[in-house]
Amino acid sequence: MPSFKYHIVRKKKFTGNISISISERRGVVVNAPFWVTEGLIRRFIEDKSEWIKKHLKHIGAKKVSKQYSEGEKHLYFGKEYSLVISSSPDFGRSSINLTADTLEVYISKDTPKEKYPEKIKDALLYWYLEMGIEIITGKVNHFSKTIGVNYKKINLKKVSSIWGSCSPTNCLSFNRKLIMAPHEVVDYVVIHEVSHIVHRNHGVNFWNLVKSLDPEYKAHRKWLRINHHLLAL
Ligand SMILES: [Zn+2]
Repeated sequence: MPSFKYHIVRKKKFTGNISISISERRGVVVNAPFWVTEGLIRRFIEDKSEWIKKHLKHIGAKKVSKQYSEGEKHLYFGKEYSLVISSSPDFGRSSINLTADTLEVYISKDTPKEKYPEKIKDALLYWYLEMGIEIITGKVNHFSKTIGVNYKKINLKKVSSIWGSCSPTNCLSFNRKLIMAPHEVVDYVVIHEVSHIVHRNHGVNFWNLVKSLDPEYKAHRKWLRINHHLLAL
């Protein structure tokens, strides 16, 4: 028996295959022609159970939304930090301080308690983007110097599926979620985009250049494929 629930939707048509769809709203739905036996459907589900479980986990991870509460863990360049929330002695803007294990958030003392999560979220995002652009710029400068190329400018973007891009005029853009990924993974994305200044394609020479700067690039690319859902900014 599989560890998840599913429901079956019967199709009136005689033709067609059994298919599975998974969504946050409807869960696991099996579409099957009317004549397919329950036993056959069960076998089909069992065959696909690993795949289904993987997708359910993915959806579950996505659904966990942040509370911005004391002690909650937040990722910053691959490491988890606990939130420590304090009321700031000053009025006005909130501030963030990074320690070895914590992200200290100081919230303006005129903020009512019910506004805290929203204020913390804004303060964190502001800080993440400020730190992110600084650190990623440092990485781009390092690797473009190593390769011996120049870029025009760097942007951090709010995009869902692209990790980085390099325009024909050598403007480099990076997904802002990378601020949560481990340094070596961010390095790979930076190396990838900077290498595009030399090779505008994904040919052998391009990958050789990437590999010369990041011998583990395949593992880093895989890390992004598997863990992208952990990065939510
Ligand atoms: Zn590319």
